[in-house]
Amino acid sequence: MSPQSLQQLRNRLSQITDINLANSVLNWDQATMLPEQGNDQRGRMMATLGKISHEMLTSQETGKMVDALLPWAKQEPADNLDAALVREAKRLRDLEVKIPTDLNSEMTEHYAKLYSAWASARPKNDFRAVEAMLAKAIELNRRFADCFAGVDHPLDALIQYSDPGTTVQSARAMFTELRSQLVPLVKKVAAAPQIDSTCLKGDFEPSKQLEFCKEIAANLGYDFSRGRMDLSPHPFMTRLSGGDIRITTRARREDLTDCLFSVIHEVGHALYELGISMQLDGNVLGGGVSSGVHESQSRLWENRVARSQAFWDFFFPKLVKAFPHFEKASKKDFYRAINKVEPGLIRVDADELTYNLHVMIRFDLECQMMEGTLKVKDLPEAWNARYASDLGVQVPDLKNGCMQDVHWFGGRLGYFQGYTIGNILSAQFYEAAERSEGSFDADFANGKFERLRLWLNRNLHQFGASRTPNDFIQSATGKSMTIKPYMNYLQQKYSTIYQL
Ligand code: ZN
Repeated sequence: MSPQSLQQLRNRLSQITDINLANSVLNWDQATMLPEQGNDQRGRMMATLGKISHEMLTSQETGKMVDALLPWAKQEPADNLDAALVREAKRLRDLEVKIPTDLNSEMTEHYAKLYSAWASARPKNDFRAVEAMLAKAIELNRRFADCFAGVDHPLDALIQYSDPGTTVQSARAMFTELRSQLVPLVKKVAAAPQIDSTCLKGDFEPSKQLEFCKEIAANLGYDFSRGRMDLSPHPFMTRLSGGDIRITTRARREDLTDCLFSVIHEVGHALYELGISMQLDGNVLGGGVSSGVHESQSRLWENRVARSQAFWDFFFPKLVKAFPHFEKASKKDFYRAINKVEPGLIRVDADELTYNLHVMIRFDLECQMMEGTLKVKDLPEAWNARYASDLGVQVPDLKNGCMQDVHWFGGRLGYFQGYTIGNILSAQFYEAAERSEGSFDADFANGKFERLRLWLNRNLHQFGASRTPNDFIQSATGKSMTIKPYMNYLQQKYSTIYQL
């Protein structure tokens, strides 16, 4: 291995990463600031940058650089970051060379248009306005999947981008096992006396909500000198560089928990990115390893930490001070209210027990759309039927039905399984952290989150994408993914709350 050839590849990959990150800036801007009329041109700009990055990665020149270093990289240990860079470049390039440049551009451009059509059609419940465009997006996704000859299911071609190592088959096995243990627990909770959550309803000035959420974010360790928080219709986190990791949120006047838990969720994603070693910044290893592992971090902070009693021992007095509305409620009322289990219509509002049922519906429907057994025109009906059978709720309109999530309308399929993987892993990582560090409850009750954050930094965050998701799960927790810690956590928590 010659140091010059390694440096040459590193430079090339860093240029490609810069172009992709510039595209992320455009994407962030589209979701937060862009005037409506700017959408079409924005789609074109993003497609152009995507095309340049695709051509650079798939060029013969890059191929030669990677191939020359690969025999060396394959022999090196997992913790050699230079070798990991070469291996990751090989993996990304192998995926990318299969996709014709024209198809890539067509997808990017079409998805930007679909996104903007969805954004205006959703409040009007106008599925017909996006139906043909969504059908075309599915068609593009199928053409994309056709580029991967060896996959068992067309959705596998898409899943390998978000959750490498996961397939439709392994995800189905995960959902089946989880469902068999989750549904009986949901039924037991439904049969128990129900929680009154009316204390959560009120009139909360959005700017005050944002201020309160910023205070919590800073307490959890979100560094505002390396990030910022803005408003967008669908909250998200984006990494633009190691020194620029942004989050967004939204605020509803009548219920501050939407803003609150969205911010903590996105902070969880951001803490992962902030914890990645600066040595990896600006290159292909400088990011989270998979959607599922990323989601484990957001769900860990959102649920395990911020829906715990200890967390509110510290923050409830501050909440009451910021919002005197809560003077009437006790800390216990509030804790129970934010953990109320109630099958509902909206995934992002779902409680911890029913959340995965929402995910399973989406996963099954997107499998069927990719197989061609479900036509886009029949999607609303299929959606509503599953909500009636799986969650026992009637879907009143499309914005609360199949138009609620941005994913499909941004052209993104093969992503939803990551939410359930994340829920499962959040408990597995937390259990491993407690095994090593002892309980964190006393820390949380004093507003201290550093010990947990540093354990996650040391055992997961710092390594970025330098190994496979399964390698990280094994090295941090001692096992491959298992639902046991997650189900133990849910059983214990909800048996106590509902006195089962
Ligand atoms: Zn998330």
